[in-house]
Amino acid sequence: MNPVTAPTTSPVDAAASAPRPAHAEPTPLADARAQLAEAVALLGYGDGLHQMLATPRRELSVAVPLRMDSGESRLYLGYRVQHNFSRGPAKGGLRYAPNVNLDEVRALAMWMTWKCALLDVPYGGAKGGLAIDPREHSQAELERVTRRYTSEILPIIGPERDIPAPDIGTDERTMAWIMDTYSVNSGYTVPGIVTGKPISLGGSLGRASATSRGVTHIALAALRHAGLEPARSSAAVQGFGKVGADAARFLAEAGVKVTAVSDQYGAVRNDGGLDIEALSDHVKATGSVVGFAGADELDRDAVLTQDVDLLVPAAVEGVLNEGNAGAVKARVIVEGANGPTTPAADAILRERGALVVPDILANAGGVIVSYFEWVQANQAYWWRADEVESRLEERMLNAWRHVLGYAEARDLSLRTAATALAVERVAEAHRLRGLYP
Ligand code: GLU
Repeated sequence: MNPVTAPTTSPVDAAASAPRPAHAEPTPLADARAQLAEAVALLGYGDGLHQMLATPRRELSVAVPLRMDSGESRLYLGYRVQHNFSRGPAKGGLRYAPNVNLDEVRALAMWMTWKCALLDVPYGGAKGGLAIDPREHSQAELERVTRRYTSEILPIIGPERDIPAPDIGTDERTMAWIMDTYSVNSGYTVPGIVTGKPISLGGSLGRASATSRGVTHIALAALRHAGLEPARSSAAVQGFGKVGADAARFLAEAGVKVTAVSDQYGAVRNDGGLDIEALSDHVKATGSVVGFAGADELDRDAVLTQDVDLLVPAAVEGVLNEGNAGAVKARVIVEGANGPTTPAADAILRERGALVVPDILANAGGVIVSYFEWVQANQAYWWRADEVESRLEERMLNAWRHVLGYAEARDLSLRTAATALAVERVAEAHRLRGLYP
């Protein structure tokens, strides 16, 4: 179980963290703070503002007891971190994974702040986590642990305070239980408390596939920007979950030849192009891409170093690091995951001329349609799927052009440009509101 520890260095000192050995444990908080430090240096902000931006406004750690189906009880550690509220209510997903810890949740919350600001959705950033492996539990156990976690964080969430959504290990069922627990405690139904709900409970059409659709819009634009015609391009996708599976499907539908995909168990490869629909059927039947008849087996991590035009890391943090970035062959990298590229890997990839489209831009489709869902739920008026999709595409491509223009005008990486643009918006809101008292 993960102990609840406070950071030992100040947020600003941690930005200058020492290089770590190849394939070391991911350090998402140090990575997020290093990215912020670069943006802050570019913007010329002082230490006070930097500390404010580097530090979550509010954090809650909770111990969540679970009565197992067997009758025994277990205890899990959970978190909700609200990084920033300057531009509106905090917003961000809830992650269930065995290695979740407070520093990881802090990093993910900070990235949510930048993502919401960059895409100009009126939210701050938050993230939740529970250090549990959902695969080891029955539906009944997951329901009980979700309801208890929700009860523990109840005082700090709300449709105008902090709005959870799905992330790794959680889904629309989890959101339904959170909504019900919150609503029962409020005495009336509050559909705006979570996004990523089932459609029949006030979810939005297009939410489930929104992150993948957004990743695809950006990937196609980035390929063209790099002088590559999507219909003559190849791609590898790491992760075949909520983001990777639909991204592989949409890329294939757009004519991109997806030649390799992986999940946590292994990887498969077919240089002629994988049949993504058949692969999805195989995954539904077996739970993994491994053993798919229409492909050869591939070492799991070799998916990152395939000889392809486009790489979509759509799994977890820190997978592209100083240990493997030199071996990445893709010209264009579009971050479906949050924090997949460490600052050291970013430098290596930039040196090689690869175009890295950062997470806070590339995977923002999810929170954009979360915003649409919240707007629809608050108005009790729902949009058609084509309305959701065209508004999503418009926002993604506007942000892409904006970031690209800012980066080109200043000779910055897309990550530094995107982070600086976002940080500037948050700092501007903070400045206009003033410091209380
Ligand atoms: N978990 C998703 C993300 O990392 C979505 C968050 C949301 O919709 O609030 O962007």
